[in-house]
Amino acid sequence: APEYYLPLRMLGSQFHAGMDGKSAAVDIFELLALQGPVMTSGAAPLARQQQIGLEFREVYADYQQGARPALAGVSFTLEAGQHLAVVGPSGAGKSTLASLLLNFLAPTAGEILVNGLVLRTLCASDWLQQVAFVPQRPHLFQGSVADNIRLARPDASLAEVVAATKAAGAHDFIMRLPSGYDTPVGEGGRGISGGERQRMAIARAFLQNAPLVILDEAAKGLDVKSQVALDTALSRLLAGRTAIIIAHRITTVRQADKIMVLNAGQIAEAGTHAELLAKNGIYSRLVAASQAREVAHD
Ligand code: ADP
Ligand code: MG
Repeated sequence: APEYYLPLRMLGSQFHAGMDGKSAAVDIFELLALQGPVMTSGAAPLARQQQIGLEFREVYADYQQGARPALAGVSFTLEAGQHLAVVGPSGAGKSTLASLLLNFLAPTAGEILVNGLVLRTLCASDWLQQVAFVPQRPHLFQGSVADNIRLARPDASLAEVVAATKAAGAHDFIMRLPSGYDTPVGEGGRGISGGERQRMAIARAFLQNAPLVILDEAAKGLDVKSQVALDTALSRLLAGRTAIIIAHRITTVRQADKIMVLNAGQIAEAGTHAELLAKNGIYSRLVAASQAREVAHD
């Protein structure tokens, strides 16, 4: 799963920050290749973009030849600053869409455009510095709490780390830990709850200050208080940024500028909450079935 490789991906941008970007990135991609996943990269440098608009043009994705494609002819545009909610049943292709944008996978056909540039031609290391990924189960690694957040920008000062955790609503629980920001986090993050972990990942995203955020929303397992804290942090993070949200809750979905219902790798329906309700199709049935709780299953 992409989540597992996040620290390595971050390592890529860490190397990039400190060394000659391209040669360092190549080493990391070689390392990743040894680990198994396909990490794709083009050669064209990508300067820091203030805003990111996206376009998918008839995108296909396959994990195995002969199997039904994970995505089959997906097309959409997302203007700079817009939020897209992606919903649909398990296996629909939601995570695959995120994996394509995170260069874990390359389209087998079609193109993904970033501000009009073809993603597969761009230097992945340059691109990934501009994408903040908040996974469903963020990975924590051995090191202090501060180190775990600084992963997103190793040269950040403690003051910058604290500003990011405050924005993410994570400062208070960190201050309650035995040694605050210096508290060691065990491999896998024992003793840190799911909600706290997600807020640490949001703090990373604030620190990274990327114009594109990809979020795999926590589906369940958070109490109401944690959920409220998370929602507040997220709305702050997403304000003014382009976002793709794999959404599991109706509250998140209805706030999005666009909603895409994926089914078996294809777009079954797309539009705003009001437009889709008026259609009286899959989306309105999902909403009805969710009983104002969940719109997807995983
Ligand atoms: P969702 O996130 O909507 O549940 P996915 O994007 O994870 O769906 O999966 C879409 C399809 O691709 C499914 O048929 C799934 O079995 C397949 N798939 C996903 N990841 C892999 C993988 N690493 N290897 C092989 N098939 C995969
Ligand atoms: Mg998924």
